[in-house]
Amino acid sequence: MNDKLPAPPPAAVPAETPPRRAQLLVVDDQPINIRLIHQIFSGDHDVFMATSGEQALAFCRKSPPDLVLLDVLMPDLSGLEVCRALKQSPETAAIPVIFVTALDNPDEEAACWDAGAVDFITKPINAQTTRNRVRAHLTLKYQSDILRRLAWIDGLTGVPNRRQFDERLAHEWRRCRREQVPLSAAVIDIDHFKAFNDNYGHLAGDDCLRRVALAIQSALSRPGDFVARTGGEEFTCVLPDADAAGAWGIGQRILQAVAALGIEHARGDRPHVSVSVGVATADAAPGPDVDALLARADAALYAAKHRGRGQVVADGS
Ligand code: GH3
Ligand code: MG
Ligand code: MG
Repeated sequence: MNDKLPAPPPAAVPAETPPRRAQLLVVDDQPINIRLIHQIFSGDHDVFMATSGEQALAFCRKSPPDLVLLDVLMPDLSGLEVCRALKQSPETAAIPVIFVTALDNPDEEAACWDAGAVDFITKPINAQTTRNRVRAHLTLKYQSDILRRLAWIDGLTGVPNRRQFDERLAHEWRRCRREQVPLSAAVIDIDHFKAFNDNYGHLAGDDCLRRVALAIQSALSRPGDFVARTGGEEFTCVLPDADAAGAWGIGQRILQAVAALGIEHARGDRPHVSVSVGVATADAAPGPDVDALLARADAALYAAKHRGRGQVVADGS
């Protein structure tokens, strides 16, 4: 936990938390115990079940639930190991885990807390207590999801904001250096956007920004790739493990995705909204720092603007 911000998650922040039934995962090797908990919650929540630690981890990685009720003692992977694994991965670290345990000795309790549990319930379970504990932790989870979204997601477009960009870029930069693979950046700026706002109004401008953000996102395909809103009408893509040719190709895909939106722009150079893209690549050899990479991408963007906008320019070309 960060002091100032709720759980900084470099990997992924949910763009939206729609109001819906909470999803609980109940993990117990004894189906009878699962059935009991299912009876308590099935009226209010969507209850999913896993009868082993491996199953539980696979489920959480695929579709993270809002809360996990976890048996401590299971053959193979114990509840403690499952909890530790969930807490270690950025994708699943924010899922609250409540242990359901038959044991009641201090060492056992300490082990649950150490593994990262938010609470525990003792067997035989009391329905009212279980219901209230779960409700309290779901409320906390819901509130921290909102805070996390406010802190890390751009409110207008729904893509990562500058803060998330800085965190994740630093993380990817370190990883790519360590693994000796290249890392590319693409800076994207909407062409003649001031004229667009002047002509169609600020609300239409906001809508255009949202659609362009989604179009850029749709042009990215690898799991590590992401786009952030890094300025008013400027976006930056981080492209781990992409060499100069790969980054160039992604720049072209972004141009096409924005063109395909077909948003009318009567006062631009073209009939439709276009973007200019500057790309730069840091190759696998240890080289300049990340700021130098972004400066080169910016310079390439500047060149793209000067050469007539609506195009991709690679650093150094
Ligand atoms: P260029 O092709 O050289 O990039 O020209 P431009 O007009 O796009 O660039 P300039 O930097 O002169 O203008 C950027 C415009 O972006 C001005 C500002 O009103 C608009 N803008 C920035 N943030 C927002 C926003 O959140 N919503 C809307 N509607 N417009 C925004
Ligand atoms: Mg612009
Ligand atoms: Mg600009």
